[in-house]
Amino acid sequence: MKKDRATRRDVLKTAMAASAAIFPLPGFFPSPALAQAAKGRVVVIGGGFGGATCARALKRADAKLAVTLVEPNRVYTACPMSNAAIAGLRYLTLQEFRYNRIAAEGIEMVYAPAETIDSAARAVTVGGGQRLEYDRLVLAPGIDFLWDALPGYSREAAASMPHAWTGGDQIALLTRQIASMDDGGVVVISVPVTPARCPPAPYERASLIAHMLKTRKPRSKVIVLDAKDEFTMQRQFQSAWKQLYPGVLEYVSLSDGGVVTSVEAATRTVTTDFDKYTPAVANIIPRQIAGQLSGIAAVADRTGWCPVDPITFESRLQPNIHVIGDAAIAGAMPRSASAAMSQAKICAAAVATLLAGNSPSTPTLTSSCFSLVAPDYAISQSGQYRPAGDVYTEVEGSAGISPVDAPRELRAKEARDAEAWFFTTTTEVFG
Ligand SMILES: Cc1cc2nc3c(=O)[nH]c(=O)nc-3n(C[C@H](O)[C@H](O)[C@H](O)COP(=O)(O)OP(=O)(O)OC[C@H]3O[C@@H](n4cnc5c(N)ncnc54)[C@H](O)[C@@H]3O)c2cc1C
Repeated sequence: MKKDRATRRDVLKTAMAASAAIFPLPGFFPSPALAQAAKGRVVVIGGGFGGATCARALKRADAKLAVTLVEPNRVYTACPMSNAAIAGLRYLTLQEFRYNRIAAEGIEMVYAPAETIDSAARAVTVGGGQRLEYDRLVLAPGIDFLWDALPGYSREAAASMPHAWTGGDQIALLTRQIASMDDGGVVVISVPVTPARCPPAPYERASLIAHMLKTRKPRSKVIVLDAKDEFTMQRQFQSAWKQLYPGVLEYVSLSDGGVVTSVEAATRTVTTDFDKYTPAVANIIPRQIAGQLSGIAAVADRTGWCPVDPITFESRLQPNIHVIGDAAIAGAMPRSASAAMSQAKICAAAVATLLAGNSPSTPTLTSSCFSLVAPDYAISQSGQYRPAGDVYTEVEGSAGISPVDAPRELRAKEARDAEAWFFTTTTEVFG
């Protein structure tokens, strides 16, 4: 591996402000102000944290609603805590969830991809040709990748240089690659600019891989190549890295030449402005946009993300279509499972209220986020959000963050809280 970092600082100067990374707490469930019971057909597309939560919340808001959830996969692989699985600290099967309990609540499950949306006729066509008519449509398609943004990277290249940013197969592939890597091997993680899904997750991943290497492959190291100079909870992460992973985790920022400019899958080469790396494992996280379905529904704007009304999450571009979760533009709210769930509940309440002919009220979201740095060491952020204009802004004075110099007992408690959060959340969505 060639590596020469002399003279690179100050060459690249474009600083990227990392997104706030605060996840709404589970349990916030606004009730719709229904003057009368709503009747109507609601189709929800995407059975992830956003869509599955929304389908359930709709049915619970009004049992008379006919709710259909469209999702191609019978098994959903959750990304939160997947970094622990990738680092061999957790079984991947603990990340897998099915839809039986959701179906048992009277929600019709359609296991097929949504393929076309006719907003004038208010109808969706799914793979296999089934046509689903709706009064209101909720889209929660998650993210897609800007495949063309990184020369050499493609769906095919991801089969050897996984992103592991969506999908069980990708997470399993990266897990296998790291487990089978020889001691002395190098793992490179390429981190994109924001906006992106879960801004702290690349640094959590780097931390947990570093923990795994330190304990099981002590001659190995992980190098983070970042397209940004700043990232969320940076002081907390970097102070922990200094303490826990000196010589194991190397961080290269934008200003130090961290931007990956091309990759070559055949030789597993990762090129930056100054270096060429040929690591044993290359985890390439590409730039992101809203899930492909948002293009089909014509709800994404030129940014590639979906502008919405923050009170109802109705699209600014298409009437009667709501967009929630990672695909939506929600201002200061991060793209996280917790945010997706909070938006889902607000959207469900708003849809039920609108179908009953009433006006939804303005919500406040309470938020909390954990990132594991080691199995017994986590950091967190919390805050509240209110709609302001077209997006959400953080309520002044509501932000909380783990102190940089917290004692290890607090870090250990936050690690237990992170595990509890995952259990509570996934039970609420799928259990
Ligand atoms: C490594 C990592 C760690 C993370 N850790 C955390 C964490 O600790 N806490 C946290 O809050 N968040 C975390 N996140 C973020 C979280 O996973 C996402 O923000 C969350 O999954 C977004 O939910 P969503 O419903 O918008 O999208 P998704 O959960 O991705 O669900 C989208 C669903 O839509 C389906 N779909 C797509 N297209 C179609 C179509 N045409 N027809 C039908 N269905 C379709 C997909 O199959 C998928 O099931 C993490 C993310 C990553 C990558």
